[in-house]
Amino acid sequence: MKTSAMKVIVCLLLVAMVLGVSCFAAMQAMKYDVHDKTRENPPVIEPPNQFGQPPSDAIVLFDGKDTSQWVSERKGGGDVPWKIENGYMEVSRKGGGIRTKKTFDNCQLYVEWCTPEGIDPKITDQNRSNSGVFLMDRYEVQVLDSYTDDNYKTNRTYADGQAAAIYGSHPPMVNACRKPGQWQTYDISFMRPIFDENGKLVRKARITLLHNGVVVHNNLEIEGTTSHKIKAAYTPHESGYIHLQDHNNPIRFRNIWIRELPEQPYLIK
Ligand code: MG
Repeated sequence: MKTSAMKVIVCLLLVAMVLGVSCFAAMQAMKYDVHDKTRENPPVIEPPNQFGQPPSDAIVLFDGKDTSQWVSERKGGGDVPWKIENGYMEVSRKGGGIRTKKTFDNCQLYVEWCTPEGIDPKITDQNRSNSGVFLMDRYEVQVLDSYTDDNYKTNRTYADGQAAAIYGSHPPMVNACRKPGQWQTYDISFMRPIFDENGKLVRKARITLLHNGVVVHNNLEIEGTTSHKIKAAYTPHESGYIHLQDHNNPIRFRNIWIRELPEQPYLIK
């Protein structure tokens, strides 16, 4: 066979492979006809009686007392080094962060948190009531006192470091913060990043975040691993822990639960 003919065949094969890969995900979603009665109905679960309570298929990570789903992030691990009282756990000074024992990837994560009242107004910026909720141990949803009204000395900080920011890259669309001393909620829907066998990023992570019931990130692509003063970038990784940050401030957490989510084929390109 002539070399030119072989080149054409190789090119055609490459095009077919590319088309095949890109069509696979679409075919997964398209394999059913409209109103196809052979398509499985989704599983039935019992929804909560009120917003914030775990549905029946959730893993309760913290119910106000039991910390057995968590370990200290300090070398050697060990029990949660934080104060547990009155239905919450509170970051202890120099206690270090905590993480779940189990790893997670795609998930719905619900967290309630509260920043302390009466903080010295001279304590500002990233030093005022800082913590964070980390997905896969590396993508931080910031916790901070970012409450703002005419009668409160607003804690100014950079936009991508305020409460509900994807730290270091994306500020929330709106500031939905409650006052210090009031409980606040994060309801997170998260899809993990995907890497190919060579570690190349195939799909960025995505997040939808409701802060106190308000959408502040809507199916947002995360730019990479959270860093301080360094532009976020991806490095390949496996599943990771949920991590709650110790930033030397007594932030409280309660009512934490998670639902593991299946991959959705149409999101794989
Ligand atoms: Mg933080």
